Amino acid sequence: MANPDSLGSRNVATTTVLFPYGCNDSSCGYCNVTVGNKSYMMMASVDRPGETLLGITPDDYKTLLDRGWRRSGNIIYKPDMRGSCCQEYTIRLKSSTFKANSKQRKATNAWSNFVLGVDYKRDQAQKYPITREEKKRKRLAPFNVVEKIHESEYATLKSKNPLEPAHKFEIVLEENNFTEEKYKLFEQYQKAVHNDEASESGFKRFLCANPFKPRYSVDNKGRKIGPYHQCYYLDGRLIAMAVLDLLPDCVSGVYFMYHPDFSQWSFGKLSAVREIALAEEAGYEYYYMGYYIHSCPKMRYKCEYQPAEVLDPECYDWHPFDDSFRKILDSKPYYSPSLERRLINEGSDTSAALLKSYHINTRQGINSTYDDTIFTTDMSGVAKLEDTKPIIDGTRILVGRKLAVAEMIAGWEDMPVETPGSAKHKIAEAVAALGLELAPKVIICLAIGQ
Ligand SMILES: [Zn+2]
Repeated sequence: MANPDSLGSRNVATTTVLFPYGCNDSSCGYCNVTVGNKSYMMMASVDRPGETLLGITPDDYKTLLDRGWRRSGNIIYKPDMRGSCCQEYTIRLKSSTFKANSKQRKATNAWSNFVLGVDYKRDQAQKYPITREEKKRKRLAPFNVVEKIHESEYATLKSKNPLEPAHKFEIVLEENNFTEEKYKLFEQYQKAVHNDEASESGFKRFLCANPFKPRYSVDNKGRKIGPYHQCYYLDGRLIAMAVLDLLPDCVSGVYFMYHPDFSQWSFGKLSAVREIALAEEAGYEYYYMGYYIHSCPKMRYKCEYQPAEVLDPECYDWHPFDDSFRKILDSKPYYSPSLERRLINEGSDTSAALLKSYHINTRQGINSTYDDTIFTTDMSGVAKLEDTKPIIDGTRILVGRKLAVAEMIAGWEDMPVETPGSAKHKIAEAVAALGLELAPKVIICLAIGQ
């Protein structure tokens, strides 16, 4: 039996504490089925003043990103890629190796030209002429993403000369607080782009609530860590906003919205280039651009940010996210290179039938109920129930505000781990989903709401 000192009770404030929701089967916004989008969910904070127990450290969240998790507001979730209607692949790119393609360069330049205006360009050419050699050098220079993305910003322009551009364009990285102006923008974006109604509570829950503990910090390299709103102001008006998580060594794009008045400027393209530039400039190694879903045509633009990598959904190593990987997805929606290698090594039977049996075991929610657990559905990329057994007895748990270890639960020893619904099964499920390395560092909260 663990003594209270070994529980690390003094450190609860700085430790990841998660409440396991369990498996969820919901409607899918990508393919519009009413059930079939399956995931395992945990709650990482509650909207209650003074409530600070739940939460995830940015370091632990980064570990989970690299195991295929993401967040929606303060809920963190891991999609069941094999069992879901749509397969959500984690992709990322190294900010320093990104090369803008012609469409991305064009969109960046077109926006700069609009902000500057023809008068500005003419006056600049007259008042601050440059030599022919300089002109040639500029034309031949490679497209510098960081330089180009700042070119239209008011502060950059003013640092060069006193001329006034046609528009005052400013970018402000703000804490992710609610404002009326942000909500109005969200409302208009939802209506025009997604033909959807917005609600203030939905906006707060989805784009302001966050799971981080602490909410804001600075890492040892001086980089900002936490949830931010990157606001785009044109002549003082909020015209677009990115929701970004700044994390240890990466910028993770959560959401982006723009005012429909500006739909001609390819803000979707521009925002990703801007986020890569932010990562590159501030020294975050990677940019995570959200899930890639091959069956969803709206996501195809994500393939254009290269060179990128895709996460293997079984063993979590990274592969080039290139044409050949995507070609495989055309015929095989669930593809794990490591799994295929293992099957070939194990069985010698490499027939399509064998491989196929590992792909998409259910579609569109058939045979699924809310009683499912990650073990009963055989969820992809999580530890087996058997492998969690050496860890679960010592898993730190929080019951109300009391810290304990799992084996202190009354009747623990005789509790059947195989039975869904038992506390033991629930803890094993959380351990398997979080991973055997992260789970011992985390506290599982078994009850909230007292
Ligand atoms: Zn779907």
